[in-house]
Amino acid sequence: MVNALKKMVAAIQALSAADFRQVAATVKERLKQDDGELAVRERASQVERCPHCGATAWGKGGVGRAGLPRFRCNACGVTFNGFTGTPFAYLKQREKLQAHARCLVEGFSIRRTAAELGIHRTTAFSWRHRCLIGPEQRNPSVLGGIVEADETYFLRSFKGQRTGLPRPAKKRGMPAAQRGLSPEQIPVLTAQSRSAPPVFSAILPSRKFHDVDALLAPRLAPDVLLMTDGLSAYRKISATHGLAYRAVPPHPQKKTQGMLPLNNINAYHSRLKAWMGRFRGVASRYLANYLGWHRLLDAARQTLTPEEFLAASGD
Ligand SMILES: [Zn+2]
Repeated sequence: MVNALKKMVAAIQALSAADFRQVAATVKERLKQDDGELAVRERASQVERCPHCGATAWGKGGVGRAGLPRFRCNACGVTFNGFTGTPFAYLKQREKLQAHARCLVEGFSIRRTAAELGIHRTTAFSWRHRCLIGPEQRNPSVLGGIVEADETYFLRSFKGQRTGLPRPAKKRGMPAAQRGLSPEQIPVLTAQSRSAPPVFSAILPSRKFHDVDALLAPRLAPDVLLMTDGLSAYRKISATHGLAYRAVPPHPQKKTQGMLPLNNINAYHSRLKAWMGRFRGVASRYLANYLGWHRLLDAARQTLTPEEFLAASGD
């Protein structure tokens, strides 16, 4: 074996540049595949509790059909692996999950993702949204200190939907029929603590008090200073829960010199809009997934690895 390897290395060194490039491409492909398999193996052994009964003690349960280690729950006796009960449980070509996670980090389109992985576009679409189940549910649970809250808006879109449309289909890039706020705009509530940057974001059913309150109030720490534009819902929230509150003029030209109190959250809106732009309109029924996707990327500020994305998806 050692001899065979030595011979192979010698043969590689004797190759022409063009032939060597072919070998290098093969090696690169193989390394990618190995990395992918390794990532799946690691993901498969990340278990926190039994997916069947929730118990936290288990022993070895052999090796499953996909070659992944299985565990046997001490409480209910059923076997499982790290994918059981996750959106990836019955997925084929799981070795491509890591490469797919890289596409999510890069924010590639469905078309580009499908091409990169050699999978069908429908598969790429389904994988994308499976991977976003985890991020969609992840939001900061407590916002404390100075918290900026403000809404941003997305055009309602029935992209990909051909039946049951409440209005005639709109061509890509067509502006809303009504100016300003209208039922064609979906409000998204965003909030951010200045001391702990991860952003909270969620689709608002309406800008009325009870809807804003239901999303925001449970996350606000008692010592919070809530800074918002003058929307009455926020004022009522602070009064109802006895929170410190400051309304900021909504128009930039009215802001006091040197004071840009909603600077952080407005900067977040710009980053979110700029990133969403690449998708050329997001179907509203998937908007929450995209919000979660961007929260994950934004919190990591460009340093998120595919492994980290994979660990955060689908659980
Ligand atoms: Zn169990």
